[in-house]
Amino acid sequence: MYYITTDVRAVVRLTKFVMRITKTKLCCRLQFWSNIVLSMQQILCSVKLSNIAYLDYAATTPCDPVVFEAMSPYFCGVFGNPNSMHHFGMVALDAVDAARIKVRTLINADFEEVVFTSGATEANKIATIRTMKSLNKTAGKRHFVTLATEHKSILDCTDYLKREGFDVTLLEVGSDGLLNLDHLTSVINDTTGLLSFCFVNSETGVMQDVKRIVATCHERGILVHADATQAFGKIPLDVKELDLDFLSASGHKVYGPKGIGVLYCKSVHARLVRTPGANRDVEFGIRSGTVPVPLCVGMGEAAKIAFSELSTNLTRIAALRERLIAGITGQLDEIYINGSSVHNYPGIVNISFRGCEGEAIMMEAKHIAVSSGSACTSNKLTISHVLEAMKIPVDIAQSSIRISIGKLTTEAEIDLAIEELVTATKKLRAISPVWDIIRSGSSVDDVFKRQGFR
Ligand code: PMP
Repeated sequence: MYYITTDVRAVVRLTKFVMRITKTKLCCRLQFWSNIVLSMQQILCSVKLSNIAYLDYAATTPCDPVVFEAMSPYFCGVFGNPNSMHHFGMVALDAVDAARIKVRTLINADFEEVVFTSGATEANKIATIRTMKSLNKTAGKRHFVTLATEHKSILDCTDYLKREGFDVTLLEVGSDGLLNLDHLTSVINDTTGLLSFCFVNSETGVMQDVKRIVATCHERGILVHADATQAFGKIPLDVKELDLDFLSASGHKVYGPKGIGVLYCKSVHARLVRTPGANRDVEFGIRSGTVPVPLCVGMGEAAKIAFSELSTNLTRIAALRERLIAGITGQLDEIYINGSSVHNYPGIVNISFRGCEGEAIMMEAKHIAVSSGSACTSNKLTISHVLEAMKIPVDIAQSSIRISIGKLTTEAEIDLAIEELVTATKKLRAISPVWDIIRSGSSVDDVFKRQGFR
């Protein structure tokens, strides 16, 4: 029902494919039937999900059928190793180069500044750990700075650097999730080598003031890495204009395949992140191993589509966000939108339904797929480290869910989300002791502290 457009598109695509294939007789029978089966699976999968609205696009996105179609010849037909010197290798290398050009176009990088990785996690790792190790070796810079609200993949690198004896500072943010530049200035020193920050926070959608962060760091000779996983292909992103040194992105957040990402590395810094002993002909010596050609092709196609659709998608998504927030706040009180109301990517909405627990809302609102910002483990409530770093009161943080809107989201899905969330909240509040405390005017935070939640 909600995926009707996807279904129709899949059917049209299948029909076109059958017409093309019967006309030209280009493919072997096996490939013909495997494509039919795959398309049917795609349709059945959409049908199965048809009564659940997917609103978790920050977690992952479905692969665009156009991307899938672009990738498919590179599994069986065009199978060469791009490192091989013969015809098959050259064809594969051409495909990887073409994909690199599409990615480079989206972010305005140079060709050799785009390095394919296995995802944003690996790109983050290369940009932070390798850069810090090199800077320490060559310039004695052993201080790494990042934000307390970072994605787990960066916090893991932070832990590793700490264990390796590096000095690490986790910067606090304001209650709006934004970095305070005075705070940044007060912690950096002559030994600071790199600042890594999330361009668009994956839980709140908060978008940092990139230009000012970069200017503050560069004035003091500090390099800057942006984890742009939630920004790439969604908001305009020009690495030259922003003057970034490193940037990470992921395929599966932009309707591309899973298992592929990109590290942008300003060419002058390539020496900092090279893999020791790696062949310079493969990913410029930054990432070794055989390049996954179909995934690179998918990443390139996803970047190309994102580039052409960027402003249309952004406008549509911003309107859907407004519709969602207005629909909920119009029917319920004590609703909080966590994060900056101005500096954000509209596709990620972190919203608290005071008096209810995030996970309980998720269980109650069965026809929407969203994420919760809290988790109840062995009768202890943990809240998201992002909301905790923003110093959101515990009862508001624990009642949060993340709704993420994508290019396939429809107004009907948003209306369904409003209806489900309003009904769930009313039902849960009616039996919630926390809601009673709020209603009585007592401090919920005090009650929570007494129970040891923070
Ligand atoms: N950084 C951010 C901000 C993310 O949202 C994610 C994905 N949840 C990652 C890094 C990791 O991306 P990948 O799955 O490509 O490794």
